[in-house]
Amino acid sequence: MTRRSLTLLFLVVLLTTAGARSMLRAQQDAPDLVLSNGKIITVDDRFTIAQAVAVKGERIVAVGSNQEIDRLAGPNTRKIDLRGRAVTPGLIDNHMHLLRGGTTWQWEVRWDGIGSRKQALELLRTRAAALKPGEWVFNLGGWAIEQFADDKRPFTREELDQVVPNNPVLLQASYREAYLNSQALKVLGISETATPDAAVVRDGAGKPTGRILEAGFRQLVGKLPTHQRAEVEASTRLMIGDLNKAGLTTFGSAGCEADVLPIYQQWAAEGKLNVRVFCITSPGGQGDQLLPRIAQMKLFQGDNYIDQTFYGESVLGALHDPMFVRTSDPKPEELAQWRKIATEIAKARLPLHVHANLTNTISAFLDQIEEIHKEYPIKNLRWTLAHVNQLNASHLERMKKLGMYAAVHPWAVINGGINHEVFGDAAEDMAALRTIQNSGIMWGFGSDGTRANQILPFTTLAWAVTGKMVGGAKVLRDTQTISREDALIAFTRRNAFFVFQEDNLGSIQPGKLADLVVLDRDYLTIPADQIRDIRPVMTMIGGRVAYDAEKDSPKLRAQNSK
Ligand SMILES: [Zn+2]
Repeated sequence: MTRRSLTLLFLVVLLTTAGARSMLRAQQDAPDLVLSNGKIITVDDRFTIAQAVAVKGERIVAVGSNQEIDRLAGPNTRKIDLRGRAVTPGLIDNHMHLLRGGTTWQWEVRWDGIGSRKQALELLRTRAAALKPGEWVFNLGGWAIEQFADDKRPFTREELDQVVPNNPVLLQASYREAYLNSQALKVLGISETATPDAAVVRDGAGKPTGRILEAGFRQLVGKLPTHQRAEVEASTRLMIGDLNKAGLTTFGSAGCEADVLPIYQQWAAEGKLNVRVFCITSPGGQGDQLLPRIAQMKLFQGDNYIDQTFYGESVLGALHDPMFVRTSDPKPEELAQWRKIATEIAKARLPLHVHANLTNTISAFLDQIEEIHKEYPIKNLRWTLAHVNQLNASHLERMKKLGMYAAVHPWAVINGGINHEVFGDAAEDMAALRTIQNSGIMWGFGSDGTRANQILPFTTLAWAVTGKMVGGAKVLRDTQTISREDALIAFTRRNAFFVFQEDNLGSIQPGKLADLVVLDRDYLTIPADQIRDIRPVMTMIGGRVAYDAEKDSPKLRAQNSK
């Protein structure tokens, strides 16, 4: 062999190996999944609309036109044709009592988004039919009687007896009152003749009507049966399926109960946790017990599935606003105690997410925080006022100066009717959405479900855009509604900041986690009154399909189709 042919052979070998290697690399670099031919509402900073997304592992690797993305596909890339459907980032609820919700979900007759009394009663009937006589039929909030477009009168025991004759019934309407049938009155030991219990509403003859006022129903709810871990686990799984079906992928979780959290941790370890959970908790205890525990709190020890991110949601129980009280009057000694605790939180440089709803409470908290801030700056700690249904422009100015956030939890989505009764016309500014949006403050949506509110994000988005609560009654004035784009941003990109995941979540962009929702219709262009009817057809978390309408039929879906 001549030197020349040797060189040639060497070159051929070299080129072939390199070719094979680069082909192999192309295959390895190719996305696992391509979704194309859609309307990708990326919710990036410029609110870009794209056609296709490529996913590799748990992350988004490319977003662009069909041609740009299709070109990346390798022989093993799975392809999903979106057939023109809209896709949004996975929806984030910045404040839900997630873990507690799972402990009762399976046994509750949920009325999230149900605008008809007839349909609600039908769901009770169906539930009772699936039970043995004597077993409880109940729900724990997430609805209010004013959401029923066909009849807003309180339930009577006779009406409930007719629908469910052989089982005790307890229905908790928001945090306002409860309705019982005759069996429940009996089982709970409520006397048929007059007693001094003012929470039990009675007719002229002293007979209980089945209606129990706020002062009394919590105690009754405490008497419902509890469940063992295996049952709670099954119930939690069912709830997460329903949340995914609603398009939800991530939660700020108010209270991460120590007896339930291990269920989530186990699923996370097995790679099958279908929600991301960011806990808002406090160490517990009061006064001298509590203070030293604050500095010992260790946040941010987790990952992008489970982590502990905020101190909350209460600093001092005495200053925890109730839901349906016209005004609050925080006492100086209570505020002094509040400040002592909040100072420790600032000193430990912990993020704070605190329940603050009524205008006087918000003002009083800001007075304290402004003083604390002088000694222990809280800027960049993401201190957040939560619920804020009575937040106003002057509060917003003060909060912006402090670098604070507003977690907006519009109880009006179910409570708009009650709010009007309690607060009069001021209810039409609760929450003052456009004032908040225009202030430029960092804000995001949460539900505060599963008891204080319904949990369906498109029902909340519909309220934000149209001002209408469940059932269609107008409860927010037109000057306070916001655009669909701003409302969606508050459920995604901005909410990512409320779970400290802005680098990972909240928009469909290369490098972020592949949490996506494919919708059955286009949120941006359908008539506003149809926003509440949007149904996700697929929900993906970290590149895994968590919900697929063609395969899964969790509880709410089964309910709603009946
Ligand atoms: Zn709260």
